[in-house]
Amino acid sequence: MIDIYPYNASTPANCPRCGAESKDAGELFFQGTHVLAEQNCSDCGLDFYVTLPIGHAALYPVVCARDGRYARYNRQEGSWMALPLIRSFQKDAGAEVEIALLQPNPGGELLLVNCLDSCFGHVFTKLWNVYLLKKQYPFKTLAVLLPARCCWLITDSEVEIWSVDLPLEELGKGVQGLDAWVKEQFKRFASVALSEVPVHPPLEGLDVDEILQARPFDLEDFEKLPLQLTFIWRSDRFWLNSRLLDLLYKASIKFGFQFLVRDMICFRQVHLLGRLRKRIQNALPEARFLVTGLNTSARFPKGWEDERVPHIVESVERRWNEIFRTSQVVIGVHGSHMLIPTALAAGFVEILPRHKVPHLTEDIGQQHGGRLGPFLGRFVDEFSSPRLVAHHVLSMVKGFGRVYGADCMEVQKKQKAIGVEREAFNYW
Ligand SMILES: [Zn+2]
Repeated sequence: MIDIYPYNASTPANCPRCGAESKDAGELFFQGTHVLAEQNCSDCGLDFYVTLPIGHAALYPVVCARDGRYARYNRQEGSWMALPLIRSFQKDAGAEVEIALLQPNPGGELLLVNCLDSCFGHVFTKLWNVYLLKKQYPFKTLAVLLPARCCWLITDSEVEIWSVDLPLEELGKGVQGLDAWVKEQFKRFASVALSEVPVHPPLEGLDVDEILQARPFDLEDFEKLPLQLTFIWRSDRFWLNSRLLDLLYKASIKFGFQFLVRDMICFRQVHLLGRLRKRIQNALPEARFLVTGLNTSARFPKGWEDERVPHIVESVERRWNEIFRTSQVVIGVHGSHMLIPTALAAGFVEILPRHKVPHLTEDIGQQHGGRLGPFLGRFVDEFSSPRLVAHHVLSMVKGFGRVYGADCMEVQKKQKAIGVEREAFNYW
């Protein structure tokens, strides 16, 4: 927790222009995704900001002149986060926005969780902290800064919601008027502490059912329910299984000619999915195949139920959740769009780009323990063939009963052993 009201000026930083140690000016600025401490360089006089260590900024801190002309950050791993922030001071003025106070509380000691983010997966994992904090600090008042689209994910009527009505993709540009609005709210409370919002909170103890209002797949029903396999489509990351196409797609992103190759890239992924479906269906003719995700480009052939949409609204999220929670296996390329599907489905196959290997498991919501964890959670290389992916899916579906049965027996044995120990303990 970081005490921010009253705020004790104590965030250390080095000037992005001359590198000298600076003085925290004692003021905070709520930019949107980031909370910044105002700084002044005692050597060259530059006024600049430093990110408070919350969310991804705890991993990749940024210092940035107030006009964005000078900045220091981790260029290798942190550019994706730092560049939108720096640009928000250079050219993007940030959008006009309506901020609403929902479920207000009378006052007290406030814990504030900032879940504003341009990526839905990030919003979702940040939001887990609200549920964890609620259990940890039941007597404190909780407020959450949240994109309006995600308010339905707060089911606790005692949690105050600060709803920012802006499309997610606009949030990275900063939120006009947020700083003044937030500081006005502080006046209702005796004190305000800001959650560090760890972006990889522990999965244990998280009630997915409570957060999503959708019960994850019950493994008891794995062999009873009709077999359903779902691919999660993403419009900016693809399974291509071709080094040449991979190179072409990366070059198109770098040099800005994606619009020229997009159709071909989408067609290639649909082609691979067609081959995957055939292989699985040869062995499991009863299987049903669905595809969810944003974007409706690339038509799917017969045999696929296309549940993709161009824009997302709450009713679509709820419909997709119903699909995930009744899917034996979900398949998709690594990314935060996999968080909810892997939390709700029985198992998953994730296609992992090699540059994402260090981030393995970051986008996984599955909670199975014991042998079932690795059995129902498979990672395959980005250059895997439909044959290999199908092999994993078939092994999960056909071998489930054997592994599940053994795992249950082991749990029963352990419970029995604990029971015997307890009995012995009681006896002595
Ligand atoms: Zn300086």
